[in-house]
Amino acid sequence: MNHRNGRITTRTCVICRERRQRSDLLRIVRTPEGKIEFDRTGRMDGRGAYVCGDGDHWGAKLLDGRLDRGRLKNALNIEIDDSTVMLLSEAINSHINE
Ligand SMILES: [Zn+2]
Repeated sequence: MNHRNGRITTRTCVICRERRQRSDLLRIVRTPEGKIEFDRTGRMDGRGAYVCGDGDHWGAKLLDGRLDRGRLKNALNIEIDDSTVMLLSEAINSHINE
């Protein structure tokens, strides 16, 4: 749990708009090179967006296109293509299952 000035650090999930503790969220980053990557450490350079780690935001739903990919796109201000979604899903799923 992260505390700063005695308060819990919270962030908003860009997909479902829920405010949660920083530690419950995953960070997706648009790197300075313009790539979309899953930020395992939470400390990568670039513009970040947060999504729930335990939500139905990843995996099959995302690949089916049922998920509103547009929200992640808007948050990072970049197009997100199928192969990027695939790579993100794989990285996140392997992280969650570790
Ligand atoms: Zn969420």
